[in-house]
Amino acid sequence: MSTDRLHRERVIAAARSLYDRGLTHGRTGNISVRYGEQILVTPTGACLGTVRPGDLSVVDADGNHLAGPPPSKEAFFHAIVLRERPSDNAVVHTHSAHSAAVSCLDGLDPDDAIPPLTAYFAMRVGRLPLLPYHPPGDPGIAEPIARAAVGHPALLLANHGPVAAGTNLDTAMDTLEELEHTAEIFLLLRGLSPRPLTDRQRDAVGSPPTRRNTP
Ligand SMILES: [Zn+2]
Repeated sequence: MSTDRLHRERVIAAARSLYDRGLTHGRTGNISVRYGEQILVTPTGACLGTVRPGDLSVVDADGNHLAGPPPSKEAFFHAIVLRERPSDNAVVHTHSAHSAAVSCLDGLDPDDAIPPLTAYFAMRVGRLPLLPYHPPGDPGIAEPIARAAVGHPALLLANHGPVAAGTNLDTAMDTLEELEHTAEIFLLLRGLSPRPLTDRQRDAVGSPPTRRNTP
């Protein structure tokens, strides 16, 4: 199987997995994988439950459309995350219910939106930035995403949903799923008295890279 075909198959497998488990719905969510000088990304208006390998779009490092159908209107921020995180090669974005619900809450710490409730959240997600609301596809989100992506593998877009990056698609999916799972726990605990990990406990389990990666 060619490298291109292999990457396309992996994107489709991830898309099916997200859709089949209810982590994305309708025609929401998008996935990208970088290899070589190009980025494969799910096309605009695609349902992740039915999109096929031949349907994927190809964009360059700046998000410019190169081949295939028009890319998702959110493809530009995938390109930005990949630019700012040169060691990462995959980005997953969804409107998953629990993360999206948390993204609508008032009063969160914009630098640390969900407390470190579990060690796995601390290790995989770390401090989660909550970025200001922008309408879908609004290029105004570009600068906030660029700034936040440098030091964080996962971001939460206000009144929208999560974005997760990883060295490969499996890692990006793991991070997104950890975020979604912890968002659910966070909501279950609303009105109760959770005891997050202390700073010492959080530091002891390690955290994702907080400095810009090197290629
Ligand atoms: Zn979106």
